[in-house]
Amino acid sequence: MRDTVSDTNTEAHTDVDSDAATNVATETAPTETAAAEPAAEPAAIDPAETGFSALGLRPELLKALDDLGYEEPTPIQRETIPYLMAGKDLLGQAATGTGKTAAFALPALHLIDGRAASKPIALVLVPTRELAMQVSEAFFRYGKDLNAKCVPVYGGQPIFRQLQALDRGVHIVVGTPGRVIDHIGRGSLNLDGIKMVVLDEADEMLDMGFADDIESILESVPHAHQTVLFSATMPPRINSIAKRYQTDPVKINVVRGDTKASAGKVRQCAYVVQRNHKPAALGRILDIESPGGALVFCRTRTEVDQLTETMNARGYRAEALHGGMDQAQRDRVMSRLRDGTAELLVATDVAARGLDVDTLTHVVNYDVPSAPESYVHRIGRVGRAGREGVAITLAEPREQRLLANIERLTKQAITIEKVPSIADLRAAQLEQTVASIRESLAADDLDDFYPVLNALSGEANPQRIALAAIRLFHELAGNVVDETEIPDISHRMERRPDGGGASAGPGRPGSKPQRGNDRGGGDKGGTTGFVYISLGRAAGIRPGDLVGAIANETDLVGREIGPIKITEKFAVVGVPDRSVDKVIGALKLTTIKGKKPTVRRYTD
Ligand code: AMP
Repeated sequence: MRDTVSDTNTEAHTDVDSDAATNVATETAPTETAAAEPAAEPAAIDPAETGFSALGLRPELLKALDDLGYEEPTPIQRETIPYLMAGKDLLGQAATGTGKTAAFALPALHLIDGRAASKPIALVLVPTRELAMQVSEAFFRYGKDLNAKCVPVYGGQPIFRQLQALDRGVHIVVGTPGRVIDHIGRGSLNLDGIKMVVLDEADEMLDMGFADDIESILESVPHAHQTVLFSATMPPRINSIAKRYQTDPVKINVVRGDTKASAGKVRQCAYVVQRNHKPAALGRILDIESPGGALVFCRTRTEVDQLTETMNARGYRAEALHGGMDQAQRDRVMSRLRDGTAELLVATDVAARGLDVDTLTHVVNYDVPSAPESYVHRIGRVGRAGREGVAITLAEPREQRLLANIERLTKQAITIEKVPSIADLRAAQLEQTVASIRESLAADDLDDFYPVLNALSGEANPQRIALAAIRLFHELAGNVVDETEIPDISHRMERRPDGGGASAGPGRPGSKPQRGNDRGGGDKGGTTGFVYISLGRAAGIRPGDLVGAIANETDLVGREIGPIKITEKFAVVGVPDRSVDKVIGALKLTTIKGKKPTVRRYTD
């Protein structure tokens, strides 16, 4: 095993010996002894050095990535794409949020090679229909200039529509194992032209009982092809599939490595919010934190521009900084941040590299960074030279694994906090008004304002006059409250199989009270309860049908459902014990494969 990068910045690790590994672009971690460091402007950006072009992708793909505002490959992309382009089999350990979809989608699209859509050249297997749609949308975005035809096939959609789409010609098929088997059986999915098979979220597919389906699909591909397997965890069954169906695979892991976080004085917290609530949540969090200066990291140039606009519309003085700007524009932005004209700097990783500004008190990850190393680099922008700082991460529920990886590698807890409610925000704003007025009380030129007080004293008592003045000040200070509550979904965070997760232990000094969350028990790591369903193989029931029905009818996610046992006449499904009643209630109201099952708790 050989590390491909320097000690200071442990990126993905591969355990093959290959020149390609040493060619992978790496960045050098900024030195963390900031005391003697001069204030540095972000270095000029050389796209050839940081971008995708070094990976040998077709120009149409490079253009699509540029249009999407991707500035550089994520570590998993940097590490895997050269091998995949060279036709190697690959076994990659990577969770959602690392950029793994593009890691396999770009090399798959590269295979299209100008040919018209007919028989598929790549087949991607995914556990759920949501992921099938998401992955095929990614193929569509990356492959738009190649006219790539990608068809998602999953249960729950009329097969007729899929048959038509497959018949019209296709480059890539993304499907759930059950439906893919259906199509192979019907002869509608021709595997003769397949050059690459991808198993995405393989552990999840196994958890959902798709192991046999997967093996039978892999055996149906008639000739040698590239087999790519991505999984967040590597249980023995995955290794045995890899042994059987892969040839000398390159092994890549973006979750290993030792990451030295020098973030001792940085309070680290995360909020769990759905994507569409992120701008409002960020605004509210910043209102409460009232940072001296904040650096907000986004993944893409496009996101940077959009968020800057949104935050300006919400009354923040926000400036964008990304690789699409020239040096003069960037210099202007930096000086506005330094002199306090701007309070928020919204930036990509590339643009903010090396940035060192004394006034920064907060770093915000608008998304969980794609690798723990980049988290450490980002939060290294605050807490420098012994100062205190705050690192805030906005996570979607499905990104919990990434948070847990970061905690494990930095050996520091990230506290999950509750998005401030309207009441929290009002209270914080009033506190700030109290502080401002207290400061004003200490001023020695208050007497200048007696004429105003005297003019009003005949109309109201002094207390009421004070209240009116306070209100005026409070409003002029920009303390407006938007009216909609942001749903708190921290309790819906997916739980890791070991039952752990972010926010272990009490909050660190200075942190706000930690919200209790129920992520410790439940699914694979906690108590599992079982639900009996009176439909089995005879009714054509497959694991995906049950997972689909439960996930659609309740707020459980795929990972929380299982094990699943299907006999000829009935099925038993494991779900977190606390959710058994909810699942029974929901399934009683629904049909599975057109039939209404008897559903009850299974205790046998
Ligand atoms: P994934 O782990 O594949 O679900 O990707 C997570 C998110 O990162 C998706 O929203 C992608 O669009 C985005 N993404 C993937 N690669 C990059 C990149 N190189 N730069 C910026 N964003 C990316």
